[in-house]
Amino acid sequence: MSGPADLIPRTPLLKVANLGAGYGGMPVLHDVSLEVYPAEMVALVGSNGAGKTTLLRALSRMLPCSGSIVLNGHELAGMTPDQAFGLGLVQVPEGRQLFDRMTVQDNLLMGSYRRQDQAAVNRDLDKIYTLFPRLTERRRQLAGSMSGGEQQMCAMARALMAAPVLMMVDEMSLGLAPVVVQQLMEVLAAIQRDGVTVLLVEQDVQLALSGSDRGYVMETGRIVHHGQARDLIDDPAVQQAYLGL
Ligand code: ATP
Repeated sequence: MSGPADLIPRTPLLKVANLGAGYGGMPVLHDVSLEVYPAEMVALVGSNGAGKTTLLRALSRMLPCSGSIVLNGHELAGMTPDQAFGLGLVQVPEGRQLFDRMTVQDNLLMGSYRRQDQAAVNRDLDKIYTLFPRLTERRRQLAGSMSGGEQQMCAMARALMAAPVLMMVDEMSLGLAPVVVQQLMEVLAAIQRDGVTVLLVEQDVQLALSGSDRGYVMETGRIVHHGQARDLIDDPAVQQAYLGL
């Protein structure tokens, strides 16, 4: 049943409009538009080479683009990656990219390097160790010596230490056992419940849609389907192309 709150138009936290980008004059993204609302988990899915990583690079300003990217009321197109990061656009990169020869705790503190409020940083560190008990046990261990799943947890925790407005998670499941991926999905759900907005970029369409509120499906640089994640899972075209049904 709908109530008065449903009638209030919501403002997207991230609004991407007519985005185009490519490499060396070769276009890869074509007219990409999408929206992410506050405290949502949104899946961006598509097969190998669909353009997901290219879109993330454009959003985090590592790749020039045409069109518009508005985060929390700020136009990001034209900004540097550091400026976008300063506005709370934080990425958990594909392949984790940890500082392997630094401890888990030092990796986490690196995530907070721009923050001035040391008391808030300490509070977040405590909160994050509660969220990832495994990292508490391993806080003095070198990040490079941990398992793939633990490294992925560390990369997500480091991103949280930056106090993200929007956390973009790239190919979280890559190379990990299904049971570990399931644990990570549960942690992501807890992060979302805590009020962090998540854009989950995944090749594993089933996994990403099953844990998200809404989804966008990319093919050859274009958004070809979007909607409620449950509706996408039930969509025969999505089932046939991505879910092996
Ligand atoms: P994957 O999951 O395999 O990373 P993806 O959906 O993230 O796939 P992209 O990596 O964005 O896809 O690639 C989209 C297209 O852009 C592909 O055709 C790819 O070959 C091309 N591409 C990606 N990176 C570069 C690059 N640095 N230079 C030139 N072309 C690139």
